[in-house]
Amino acid sequence: MDHFTFADMKKIKRENLGDLVPLELFRTIRLIGLYQALPMNGKGTTQTIGRKIGEELGVTSVNELFELFENMKIGIPTIVREDEKGMTVAIHDCFCEGLPVMEGKMVCDLEGAIMEGALTKIQGKRVSVREVKCNVHGDEHCEYEVRY
Ligand SMILES: [Zn+2]
Repeated sequence: MDHFTFADMKKIKRENLGDLVPLELFRTIRLIGLYQALPMNGKGTTQTIGRKIGEELGVTSVNELFELFENMKIGIPTIVREDEKGMTVAIHDCFCEGLPVMEGKMVCDLEGAIMEGALTKIQGKRVSVREVKCNVHGDEHCEYEVRY
């Protein structure tokens, strides 16, 4: 065995601390570790990491992907617009909800890239996902523009 799969991540055997970590740890890794520590807010790196994670999730439909997002407590996705060229996905209760607003910043690019990797695999062709709204940007919720 030389690499981990997403299925391996679910093999948890901790006697006292269980299977959850606090949201502030996730945010710290995401925002202080990735977003602030990497050059250009980690743009290219985050994209690579997210796509790879998305491909490994093993989801086979948009519904399954959205369920996973909710079950993993990343956020609750809903499709707010859809046509043959793509869809707009709003995320409620996003992990970033409640953080201070910072003018001009959108911080949920990793989650968009995860969606991109998963959707590309589901559709069998290149799908692109762009973050267009974010709580941190002062928007009413986080939102992604998905193009097939
Ligand atoms: Zn967000």
